[in-house]
Amino acid sequence: MSVERLGSWTREDGDARAVAVLTDRLGVAADVVRSAPGRVNVIGEHVDYTGGLCLPTALPHRTHVALRRRDDDVVRLVSAQTDETWTAELGDLAPGALSGWGVYVAGVAWALRQAGFTVGGFDAAVDSCVPFGAGLSSSAALEAATAVALVDAFDLDLGSGPGVRNLDDAARAILATACVRAENEIAGANTGGLDQASSLRCVEGAAILLDCRDGAVRPVPFDPLAVGLDLLVIDTRAPHSHVDGEYSARRVATETAAELLGVPDLRAVPFDELDAALARIGDRVIRRRARHCVTEIERVREAVAVLDGGDVAGLGPLMTASHVSLRDDFEVTVPELDTAVDAALAAGALGARMTGGGFGGSAIALVRADEADAVAQAIADAFALRGFAAPAFLTAPPSAPAG
Ligand code: ADP
Ligand code: MG
Repeated sequence: MSVERLGSWTREDGDARAVAVLTDRLGVAADVVRSAPGRVNVIGEHVDYTGGLCLPTALPHRTHVALRRRDDDVVRLVSAQTDETWTAELGDLAPGALSGWGVYVAGVAWALRQAGFTVGGFDAAVDSCVPFGAGLSSSAALEAATAVALVDAFDLDLGSGPGVRNLDDAARAILATACVRAENEIAGANTGGLDQASSLRCVEGAAILLDCRDGAVRPVPFDPLAVGLDLLVIDTRAPHSHVDGEYSARRVATETAAELLGVPDLRAVPFDELDAALARIGDRVIRRRARHCVTEIERVREAVAVLDGGDVAGLGPLMTASHVSLRDDFEVTVPELDTAVDAALAAGALGARMTGGGFGGSAIALVRADEADAVAQAIADAFALRGFAAPAFLTAPPSAPAG
């Protein structure tokens, strides 16, 4: 059984690919080419929409967007990942009005316009080595790459000076908000803000602690390779089904729990008052959903403490506890995710968990760097034994944000 590794491209290679797609398929030369990464969330899952804390890093895998301004309001889009050329007038964009993959791109232009920035029509080409629909946030990578390409092409000043080179974290936060609006309102995907903040605001060689209440970001030291460890990402390739409905149900459950407890969000429930709070929730399911959120936010605090103390290995047990909570209390795992985690731990991983929204998608395992291949092999073997489709693997040193 062979283990498939999904390598990342160099920035230059990915940029050149996107530029070539623009020329080949739309017959125009690029004004700008920019890129943005996918992400893995190290810990802090399904808490972004309840005011929680997350700890993401950027992947070395990026989505590249080559873009040329137009003199009119037309948007024409091509992608190396799809044959479908997507075309629309910017003025026709509105919530629910259009569909297709191009809404992730055009939606960002729409949202920037809504925020008062001057953005016109453009031709753009996309190429990407971020796995699609794998819970590694190819959608946010596409939005974020579009956002930074538009900043350069239209010389936008987000308050820190014109162009991408001047973007500070506050300006990046504005772009992240525009990308969230594109995904929520134009693409119609009811996701929290974790993915877009990760792609735009992560820091190379670190994780970021994202406070989903006020949007504040703080880099947290996280460099597994420096201590002989590595973050192995397992794309389970499990088919997603009913995901949107399940996500919405989880969101509603957390909102219901907060309402019952009379708090604005579940972040407001102190960890040491959890038992008393849970006793006030009559519904068994809602109670478990709330328990996941409150314990997960506490695990993020503990993770930050161990990482601030330089103890990367200390993250392992917290990751595994997070998975158990997502499996048993939040119920967003599938057999492929559980198998990946169990097999990784049995093969010597220090910790493992699903990452992203769940119901398929990816898992991560903290492994000794020289054992990454053996752990990947053990997971591939476990998948084969159960008759699952072969998983794919990549390793994820914390990489650079959109730019
Ligand atoms: P994830 O973000 O976990 O990868 P999503 O379902 O949120 O999965 O987003 C995947 C969608 O984003 C794709 O179905 C497609 O519409 C769009 N997309 C992402 N990357 C690209 C790309 N390189 N080219 C075209 N569309 C893309
Ligand atoms: Mg997505």
